Amino acid sequence: MLQAVKGTRDLLPGTCRKFRHVEQTASQISSLYGFDEIETPILEPAALFLRSLGDTSDIVSKEMYRFTDAGGDDLVLRPEGTAGVARALISEGLAQDLPLKLFYRGPMFRRERPQKGRYRQFYQCGVELLGVDSPAADLEVIACGYHMLQELGLSQNLTLRLNSIGDADSRAQFREALKAYFQAHRDELSQESQDRLERNPLRILDSKDPRDRKLLEQAPRLADSLTPAALEFFKQVQDGLKALKIPVVIDPLLVRGLDYYCHTVFEFTTENLGAQNAVLAGGRYDGLVSDLGGPRVPGVGWAFGTDRLVLLLDELQRDWKSSASFALIPIGERAEQELPSLAQDLRRAGLRVDLSFSGNVGKRMKRADKVGALAAVIFGDNELNADRFQIKALKTGTQSEVPRAQIITELQRLITSP
Ligand code: ATP
Ligand code: MG
Repeated sequence: MLQAVKGTRDLLPGTCRKFRHVEQTASQISSLYGFDEIETPILEPAALFLRSLGDTSDIVSKEMYRFTDAGGDDLVLRPEGTAGVARALISEGLAQDLPLKLFYRGPMFRRERPQKGRYRQFYQCGVELLGVDSPAADLEVIACGYHMLQELGLSQNLTLRLNSIGDADSRAQFREALKAYFQAHRDELSQESQDRLERNPLRILDSKDPRDRKLLEQAPRLADSLTPAALEFFKQVQDGLKALKIPVVIDPLLVRGLDYYCHTVFEFTTENLGAQNAVLAGGRYDGLVSDLGGPRVPGVGWAFGTDRLVLLLDELQRDWKSSASFALIPIGERAEQELPSLAQDLRRAGLRVDLSFSGNVGKRMKRADKVGALAAVIFGDNELNADRFQIKALKTGTQSEVPRAQIITELQRLITSP
């Protein structure tokens, strides 16, 4: 039997509805902050990610779906959204219109070990604010993420972690300090961290291995390497968050897995999803656009995993409102013939109507219950002759008789007071 590819899933209607709810909330709240939607291709040239994410990132070193197509082009199914937006800025010449505020959503692909909250095809929504190098932009972006999570009812269950990884000078200095420290303790490091030591020592901060965690207690602190300018930048972001009353935990070990970040990095984490605790993550990436061969355009943004937010909302047993629907239940041949035009009238009036196409009244009533219909409109010869239809509210069981001309008003009334 044919199965979905490992790590991918079918989002059946119940799940899909939740995904759309989360995406629409994200889109709507980010539009309050001036973000407009952009959609970039899922297929991108491999060079885009090779140049932007860094060879030592997990994504580039082992997770990319990369292939050569029949024409010999080296392509990748995008593993994240920021690089594509930066590429679009360059190839569409958008650097004329800064600042730019863009929102995106869609599938991303990473070949990692599938588990709860971790898939090979997963979905993200994200925002990017391009062209502003002041902390006000970082603040705007974080505030937007927080507002959106609040709107989804999640702010109590999430922690905002914040750190600064400084400017290029701060980082170069820290890198050397960290390298020297770990080299002196090389044998005590995990194998993975020993491998990272030469190429990307910063990633060791991220390690979950207990041996590395132990060594990290005494390791040099990133904060001690920040230049005065980087410290001032970080302070302004923190002051801004305080003024907006957004609770934040400074996490000196927070670094992001990708090369392009600088200054602000942040993450919203949850205790409710086991190991997959990061739901929304982002930071500043002033070097990205120029690294890709474009002009020097600073940027800051975030992305969240839609799959994980949906799981989290499920975990917290949040209700999902689906829009009210109605069942039409004809009795006999004349009613069957009337059915399509009645359904059309109701739908044109904006009401959601479900038809079951076959079966007796009992069977159709069962389906009406199953689809969660708010009410059923029941009619046969008697009703057609008298021009009065039966409307049965399914939650309460109350039945009323309504002239055909008033059905729409009556159903609309039921939506507001069932
Ligand atoms: P993690 O530490 O969980 O691997 P990450 O640092 O690789 O996350 P980012 O690249 O920052 O993740 O992507 C932003 C968000 O996308 C994450 O916080 C997470 O919610 C989600 N995400 C990342 N990878 C996956 C995946 N394989 N399946 C589902 N969601 C994912
Ligand atoms: Mg990852």
